Amino acid sequence: MHKMLRHISVRFLVLFALFVTCGGFVANAQDFTALARFDAGRSGLHQTAEGLEMDLAFSQAVPYRVFTLEKPRRLVVDFREVDWGQASKSDLLRRPLSMVRDLRFGLYRPGWSRMVVDLAVPLVLDKAEMKTNPETGEATVHLRLVSASEARFSAQSGAPDDRKWGLLPPASRVPPVITRQNGDRPLVVVLDPGHGGIDPGAERDGLREADLVLAFARTLKESLLRGGNFEVLLTRQADVFVPLEERLSIARAAGADVFISLHADALAEGRARGATVYTLSETASDAASARLAESHDRSDLLAGVDLEGQDDLIANVLMDMARRETLPRSEALADDLVSALKDVLGKLHKRPHQFASFSVLKAPDIPSVLIELGFLSSSKDRENLISEEWRKKAAKGIVSALENWAREDASQASLLRK
Ligand SMILES: [Zn+2]
Repeated sequence: MHKMLRHISVRFLVLFALFVTCGGFVANAQDFTALARFDAGRSGLHQTAEGLEMDLAFSQAVPYRVFTLEKPRRLVVDFREVDWGQASKSDLLRRPLSMVRDLRFGLYRPGWSRMVVDLAVPLVLDKAEMKTNPETGEATVHLRLVSASEARFSAQSGAPDDRKWGLLPPASRVPPVITRQNGDRPLVVVLDPGHGGIDPGAERDGLREADLVLAFARTLKESLLRGGNFEVLLTRQADVFVPLEERLSIARAAGADVFISLHADALAEGRARGATVYTLSETASDAASARLAESHDRSDLLAGVDLEGQDDLIANVLMDMARRETLPRSEALADDLVSALKDVLGKLHKRPHQFASFSVLKAPDIPSVLIELGFLSSSKDRENLISEEWRKKAAKGIVSALENWAREDASQASLLRK
């Protein structure tokens, strides 16, 4: 099979392991309902004179596909969901390789797993095959990449448009009209726990931002449902990756009145600590905020999302609308959040309302804020974030801010109608 593939020159190479139809193997098959377990001990990457060889070993055969993307240059390998166990990057990259900048793997979507390898040089796929051991059922995906010109890499790169993999439903380009809340119905609050799956967010002392913000979102959801007239929806319920654009699509589909993105990033510089509320602005409050916004957008790229073809013109028009209509409402919400959080927590960040160009805040018609609950780079904040008591207090503050805001916002809406 591989001889044939080596001579196929296509824009991208997509391979399916159709093991289910292979009678000989099924006879020996173990439990197909179990997830294929990643076997780090039999896996690894190594460099050769021609390029890069990769072996990815599993407890059983698993359907997979592989392709490359540009800007930044990366190799993406998708699998039906696999159990990565305790495997870490260093199991695969036992020593630094000049052709590989970084790699990551994890759950990408429910039912799907992904590995992304950042390539330091242009490498194209030369061979991809999966071999199964008929005795044990164990399987190994072997990939060979060879050095190529920038032009050849570019010609062969791109995300396959394959519905069977069902990875990314295309976001609707025609946003439904969201009617402004006027207090007559429950306020629809969409909570957006940042990161997840292949993108853990900030990591310190064994804590992962993705886990902490999901735990907080659950606490906050409970408090909102208990506390008042709210409908609450989360953009993710588990440790899965959700691209930024899809987070907005979820909010829109839910008819969100408010969108609250939750984060707990780490900052490289300074000693930032304390909760901070962000609203959208093309001009960031400071360099750290600008870098934060950049790194969130970069999470999508690093997770292997293909951003080619996203329409910047549309984005700009939407930004204009946001500025005129929705931004003042987002800013009012940020002010309410800052004062309510100050009441319950005492101390916040020294400048608790900040600005940055976070893509996730760009819905034109949904008041949106991003709350950095704290910074994983601060030991005091880490202590807070893992404290159930602190989380409950913070949630209480957010509930009362939303109640205040909903009331003021509804009376503003009725003034506008007159
Ligand atoms: Zn974050």
